[in-house]
Amino acid sequence: MRILIIEDEPNLREQLASLLRSNGYAVDVAIDGKEGLYFGSEYPVDAAIVDLGLPEVDGIDLIKALRRAKRDFPILVLTARSQWQDKVGGLDAGADDYLTKPFQTEELIARLNALIRRSAGHATPVITCADLSLDTSRKIATLHDTEMELTAFEYKVLEYLMLNQERIVSKSELTEHLYEQDFDRDSNVLEVFVGRLRKKMTPLNFIRTVRGQGYRFSPDKSAG
Ligand code: CA
Repeated sequence: MRILIIEDEPNLREQLASLLRSNGYAVDVAIDGKEGLYFGSEYPVDAAIVDLGLPEVDGIDLIKALRRAKRDFPILVLTARSQWQDKVGGLDAGADDYLTKPFQTEELIARLNALIRRSAGHATPVITCADLSLDTSRKIATLHDTEMELTAFEYKVLEYLMLNQERIVSKSELTEHLYEQDFDRDSNVLEVFVGRLRKKMTPLNFIRTVRGQGYRFSPDKSAG
């Protein structure tokens, strides 16, 4: 999952970026509203964290512009101002949730996870597919009631495919949502991870290759 942080305060921006990275997210950072608007329009974004008080383009105007451009990823607003007018202003502009600074990092992560999950159409943190279940708040996958041993990156691949189950996900989409902008991408590496995931789920096959198009995650219908 790829998160865009738009925050002009350098310390907070770096703190947020490292917090999200340590929670398994790929992170892009924008230092003002103008850059944020550009990244938000051009990058593949799964959710954005937007400070309201931004130079160049104000947070509210930025959110309005993204929504006008039909960019519909979830947006969590950060505001240093605790007046209700600011919160309402952010939500009215098209944001999905807000946090007032200072905030607990656990709360930020929990709200962000919930926003991403809900935007993919899942109301609860546990996503299931046949005998496989994924607890997106604890970052744990369970197959036949046994916790799977997954590396952080294997988990990320599995989570993205499961959130988008029954839909064909191309390799480039998967790469774009799992890696940051300046990362050296190699789709062969991705194939290795998918291969390892498949192996860990054998004999069931949840990840089908759709030739020339990508992967589709769905229950193994051949299994009894
Ligand atoms: Ca600010």
